[in-house]
Amino acid sequence: MLDSTARSLTSELWESSELYRNAVTELREAANTMKLDPNIAERLKVPKRALIVSVPIRLDNGIIRVFEGYRVQHNMTLGPGKGGIRFHPDVNLSEVAGLAMLMTFKCSLVGLPLGGAKGGIRVDPNKLSRQEAQALTRRYTSEINMIIGPDRDVPAPDIGTDSQTMAWMMDTYSQEQGFAIPGVVTGKPIEIGGSLGRTESTGRGVVYTIEHAIKHLTQSKRTSLRLDANTSVAVHGFGKVGAVAAYEIAQRGAKVTAVSDYTGGIYNKNGLNITELYKMLKPGQSGITLSEYKKDVEPISNEDLLALPVDILIPAAIDGVITKNNVKNVKAKIIAEGANGPITAEASKVLEEKGAFIIPDILCNAGGVIVSYFEWVQGMQNFFWNETEVNEKLAEVLSNAFKRVIEIQTHYKCGMKTAALIAGVDRLNRAMLLRGLFP
Ligand code: GLU
Repeated sequence: MLDSTARSLTSELWESSELYRNAVTELREAANTMKLDPNIAERLKVPKRALIVSVPIRLDNGIIRVFEGYRVQHNMTLGPGKGGIRFHPDVNLSEVAGLAMLMTFKCSLVGLPLGGAKGGIRVDPNKLSRQEAQALTRRYTSEINMIIGPDRDVPAPDIGTDSQTMAWMMDTYSQEQGFAIPGVVTGKPIEIGGSLGRTESTGRGVVYTIEHAIKHLTQSKRTSLRLDANTSVAVHGFGKVGAVAAYEIAQRGAKVTAVSDYTGGIYNKNGLNITELYKMLKPGQSGITLSEYKKDVEPISNEDLLALPVDILIPAAIDGVITKNNVKNVKAKIIAEGANGPITAEASKVLEEKGAFIIPDILCNAGGVIVSYFEWVQGMQNFFWNETEVNEKLAEVLSNAFKRVIEIQTHYKCGMKTAALIAGVDRLNRAMLLRGLFP
């Protein structure tokens, strides 16, 4: 059949990254457990739309270089596409598609009227000057402008991008339309329509979900942990998500014994001075790395950090760090997926079988997109909330989502990863059935 030849070509393309293959494996597992209509499962395995763009910029040395950029919209049944823009040397179409798929289920799980999308440029942002980063961001925005917009698809920061990147995106899109359109992106600086609490929201959400996990495990007599000095925590990735999570959990009294970044990690068995580290290294502001911090700490490698005998492990850096090769070394009882896809599908199974409690990424790190949604709503209404209001609403949305995942986990007697995915797929499934198939 002609159809099957065409299909195998694209499926090879989609499936070329581990992240995408993992997302599909997890989707398949959820679909089997909940006995999802196979027509819906089939549709969800591939994205709705994907755009590949060439992004030429003039480097500071006068040479023109062409970078490759992507924006993938996985599903937009529930509303406009939503998801970050990643600047990273390993970004590719398949990875972006996998991340877009995770966004679909994340937005659906936490009840947002938004679909799932993701974008990225294959570039090492640490090697760009400010001027080059600005040129790259602006040209990329211009190249994808026909598929983004406040009612179509709303980008946000992800790895390698920040509020300044969003300001340039918002400005480029607005210049092309002729007036200010803040709703085209979220994660903007406060001065141009950002929301209070957005920068900290992902890390804060991670800690809210850890509190829920401890409460849940205490009720079912599976733990006696509390967030006090007897509880040790390791954070893999002291960046936009991990640094805030480390700070918030240390504020609650837990002992953060190790943190790391791409240069390596630091360790102190009695607990690190997280307040000082957080102030010094405030993500994206100083350019200082952890390897430069020497006060009362021992160096530790990223790999050894993951294997520490801590109570709580927060992998908050990047995907694919806990795999079938190193999962046997992981000793933490609670693992909070601050990053997207840090534990592979195979490794998740091993961890859950040995009794670890995983807080799945689409629940654990959903704080970011929840406050992005609040930012979008505030922008549409031109009416801005105070930070307490933002945090209270964030806590409420995450608490409801956590409860729903536990209900599903209890009902199907499945793992937390599958339960979270079922929660996301279930709401979307009902919406897709109601809207029907066009034409
Ligand atoms: N990049 C973040 C994520 O993976 C935030 C996305 C957003 O706020 O739209 O969830």
